[in-house]
Amino acid sequence: MNKTIPVSPCDTAQKQSPWLSVDDAIERMTNAVKKIQGTEVVTIRDALNRVLAKEVVSSINVPPYANSAMDGYAVNASDLPSAGETTLKLVGKSFAGIPFAGEVKSGECVRIMTGAQIANGTDTVIMQEQVEANDDQITIKPGHCKNENVRHIGEDIKDGDTVLSVGQHLTPAELGVLASLGVAEVTVYKQLRVAFFSTGDELRNVDQELEQGQIYDSNRYTLFGMLKNLGVELIDMGIIPDDRQAIENAFIQASQKADAVMTSGGVSVGEADFVKDTLDKLGKVDFWKIAMKPGKPLAFGFVNDAVFFGLPGNPVSVMATYYQFALPTLKTMMGLKATKATVVKVPCKTDLRKAPGRTDFQRGILQSNEKGELVVESIGMQASHVLSGMSKANCFIILPQDWGNVAAGTLVDVQPFRGLM
Ligand code: AMP
Ligand code: MG
Repeated sequence: MNKTIPVSPCDTAQKQSPWLSVDDAIERMTNAVKKIQGTEVVTIRDALNRVLAKEVVSSINVPPYANSAMDGYAVNASDLPSAGETTLKLVGKSFAGIPFAGEVKSGECVRIMTGAQIANGTDTVIMQEQVEANDDQITIKPGHCKNENVRHIGEDIKDGDTVLSVGQHLTPAELGVLASLGVAEVTVYKQLRVAFFSTGDELRNVDQELEQGQIYDSNRYTLFGMLKNLGVELIDMGIIPDDRQAIENAFIQASQKADAVMTSGGVSVGEADFVKDTLDKLGKVDFWKIAMKPGKPLAFGFVNDAVFFGLPGNPVSVMATYYQFALPTLKTMMGLKATKATVVKVPCKTDLRKAPGRTDFQRGILQSNEKGELVVESIGMQASHVLSGMSKANCFIILPQDWGNVAAGTLVDVQPFRGLM
């Protein structure tokens, strides 16, 4: 049961929200973009983190032959005792890569190792710990079944199976599966090119000295990390000052070089007019107020032919809006199959302050308590300029638009950062 604690009067100002909801914004953005055109053939190692553009059909069975799941003795099930014991004669061995060449007859068995081909005339493997071996005399007790410890031909993948389909994200597991089929190259979509820059007269690069009134540009580093993890080609255009001509030049250059342009800062009210004039001239961009916290201002649209994401300036807002909006939209552009980020319901250990009106993406720490049950707690200060909180946190605690303050013990939705790519 959700318990809410009373909302303080100063938290109710935004109760009636005329703004765009998080879900509506995601839908508008993902619907507005198209999948990238063009494919290329790459080796499977170069395919890591890319998106499959042509399905892969297996031309072999995996495993290609029946083989043993254990070290032991390969026998014919008709020789197994139902009562008493039976003793079989050892007539040879089948090792991984060196199969037994002959035919095993009734009353005989062969030594077999894990992964070795099941010898002709046998159908069952008895674990070595379960027999008594005396030179070439192998004694077996009752209680075994036919096909025990046998991996069957094609039980992983069958000849002719469609193994991977178009839009599949190629992770380490897919690379291994492709290798298991003897597939050395795959067709993937061309890599998406994303140009990004920071805007603001107050921003300095990490290698510069700070003067009065200046701060370091951190957004270009969180964006670098998030985009790099996604597997796009990065075009880092640096810091652009709050200057009409400089901004216009940056937008023109970025839109010529990239499929998507991502900026941070300069889209909040006041500054928006300035950036807005430039964007109106170059394309079609909407300036939205999203009913979320952090990350209220957001611009989205097209600059020339490039898709444009104008993320807010505050460092936590940049990461939150990137994960909630830019990530699903970029994934659509990359040709990835649609997937929803993982959200789990867990009890919250701490009280949470919240005003009704916007969906909160508070930063939390998800971990097991002493009983081994998952619980979440707030990282503490939730302001959108406190970037260290993003580093302490491992999840967003998503609190619905209409909720007020949350009492400890309430079940809340949690989105682990690890589920985000
Ligand atoms: P703005 O939307 O440009 O008014 O920026 C909102 C807040 O985010 C201001 O406090 C800016 O100083 C800060 N900010 C904007 N861009 C960056 C950046 N690249 N790195 C760190 N802080 C930033
Ligand atoms: Mg600014």
